[in-house]
Amino acid sequence: MQIAILGAGAMGSFFGGRLALAGHAVTLLDIDEAHIGCIRRDGLRLSTDSGEQVVRNLIAQRPEEATQPVDLVIVFTKTMHTEAALTAASAVLGPETALLSLQNGLGNAERLARFAAPGQVMIGVTTWPADKSEPGRVSSHGHGTIRLMSADGKHSSALEQTVSALNEASLACRANPDVWAAIWEKVAFNAALNSLCAVTQCTVGELTHTADGESLALKIVAEVVAVARARGIAANEDHVVANVRDALAHHGSHRPSMLQDVLAGRHTEIEAINGAVVEAAAAVGVEAPYTETLARLVRLVDARRR
Ligand code: NAD
Repeated sequence: MQIAILGAGAMGSFFGGRLALAGHAVTLLDIDEAHIGCIRRDGLRLSTDSGEQVVRNLIAQRPEEATQPVDLVIVFTKTMHTEAALTAASAVLGPETALLSLQNGLGNAERLARFAAPGQVMIGVTTWPADKSEPGRVSSHGHGTIRLMSADGKHSSALEQTVSALNEASLACRANPDVWAAIWEKVAFNAALNSLCAVTQCTVGELTHTADGESLALKIVAEVVAVARARGIAANEDHVVANVRDALAHHGSHRPSMLQDVLAGRHTEIEAINGAVVEAAAAVGVEAPYTETLARLVRLVDARRR
């Protein structure tokens, strides 16, 4: 497939590198000059549990430099940059181009739908992790999965081809019409741990230093799951609580991306996570006071750091 990765940071470069290694024609589109410069010059250095590989069979460009429509665009900017990125990369969007978002948060399908017909938009969720340690170099350790669906809920040849391409890249992908529950469960997890770490500047493990960390996290999880349920989405609270407890116990030194963004003075994804939950809660008449308080606090921290 001809694939453009729009937003080739940690996740985009990891996915793009794996798809290129599987033989697909991949173009990485990003505005980070240092990163795309390194990839053009030296290839993409991809570090996984099987060691470091240098991927050379890919193109790295700024979004506005792309000139040809592709079969598939995988959007991996942070959520607040989706629209600017798609606008700049409009040349890759042909009448048949499918768009996929595996970004965190809510509203991704709606953002992509402004650039393509509903039948061409796919959304999903991935548990693959990735980090960008320096320009031109990304790493992903451990194993993950991808679940995705067409945003209109229908089966399509684009969906089938995308699932095949991701599996050829050994990314463990399956089409799943119940992806909404998985998306909301991940939002519940991130709304709890990302926002608490961003506000307190605690690592995930440091949230266990008093009982308040887990207690606040579980209140946020309960609120987000209640909003999902009120919208008819069968999110499983026990499942999220188990994941939160597992992270608190085993991911002690991890700094969630929202904390990393705060520390680096970058915008956070708070609006697509806690902010979007608060909006959804208001629409269905469910109270979400803890989620809302954390959204407001992260906005303050976010504004001050920048
Ligand atoms: P990242 O910050 O490493 O990468 C985002 C990239 O987008 C950057 O390279 C940035 O330069 C680029 N970008 C910003 N504006 C752009 C524009 N206008 N045009 C083109 N590129 C632009 O972020 P990430 O960690 O790769 O996360 C991407 C998404 O995936 C987020 O929604 C995140 O929540 C989600 N996610 C991340 C992980 C992870 O482990 N990193 C796991 C699952 C999901």
